[in-house]
Parts: sequence; C-alpha cells; structure tokens
Amino acid sequence: MTDSLTASVVKTLFSEELQKIKHFQYGPHLIAPAHFVVLATRIHFFGTIAIKHSSTQSSPGQYLSDKNELWFNFKKAETLPERAVVVHEATHAILDMNKAYLSVGDTETMAYVAQCQYARANNEEQGNRLEMRDHEGNLIPEEDDVFRFGWDIAGTLLSGGTPSQADYQQLKNAVIGHPNYSENYAMQAKNDGIYAVG
Ligand SMILES: [Zn+2]
Repeated sequence: MTDSLTASVVKTLFSEELQKIKHFQYGPHLIAPAHFVVLATRIHFFGTIAIKHSSTQSSPGQYLSDKNELWFNFKKAETLPERAVVVHEATHAILDMNKAYLSVGDTETMAYVAQCQYARANNEEQGNRLEMRDHEGNLIPEEDDVFRFGWDIAGTLLSGGTPSQADYQQLKNAVIGHPNYSENYAMQAKNDGIYAVG
C-alpha cells in the first residue's frame, strides 16, 4: 500500500504537466523530461528511492544521495509550489541516478532550472513566479534570487530559446549567495547512483 505522499510524488513525476518542461544542457549534463519518467518508474515499481515526510526540516524538500531518500515537509504534494519542490528534489535524484560528476552549486543550479520551468509552464497566473518572502511579506533577496534568475532561464527555455552561459552563471551566483549553500557549494555532490542501499 503506497502512502499518499509517495503516491503524490509519483503522480507528479509521471504527469503531463512535467512533460511541458524543455530539456536543458548545463556543461556536459542533461536534464530531459523523460528522466523524470525513469525516476518515477524506479520509485514506483522498484522502490529504489524512499519518500519520507518530516515536519521539522527547515527546507521544503531534501534529497539524501547516500541513503537514496527524498524528504518533504508536506504530507502530500498538492499545490503548484509543492509539486515544483518535488521536481527540484527529483532533479537531484536524477543526477545521482546518472552519476553526474559536478559540484553541489552546479546540482542546485540545475535543480532550480527544472523547478522554475515546471512552475512557469503550469502557472495559471503569468507573472506570479516562485519567490521567497519573510513573514511580513517582503522578498528575502539572498533566498529569492535563485527563483528570480531561475524564472528568467525557465522563460527562455520554455519559449524555445537557449540560455547563455552568463544566464546560468547568474543563477549559480545566486546559489552561492544563498545561506543554505554558502558553505558547501564547492563540494562535489555525492552522485554515486541509486542502487539499493544496505
Ligand atoms: Zn536542491
């Protein structure tokens, strides 16, 4: 019996909404819509990655490559921002599955591009981008810039264009300036495949 969180994650990964994103190349690394179907298959039919809930974690999602676990702070991926978080974390899992050799900063850059593309492609209200605000409703620039620059790249890709190296560098600089990544962005991501652990 599949729990509702896992079911909602698999549903998002198999969805037609996710097939709206455009493939993109970052250095030698490719993310394409079909990758998410492969990942969903691995989760749904083989249980290679465990989907878990934590109400205490500070970020909405997290992928642990050493344990092959996806963690979310919501019990079911329902809203567009929540499903976009699933796409972000799934991008990390795909890069692990593909044993992509790249830094934490570069994996985050790719994850934000996929997340913003998914949200922008399925956004009913144009101009209503993903963002990060404080409790008083003010944008938090050091945390919001990943969405601001990711949203621009997403727009270029979705309209059939190719973002420039400078566009990607601007997003990567925003990742480096984000408090979650400022200490580990230069480390290699542990993308060692998603074979069964234990
Ligand atoms: Zn991430």
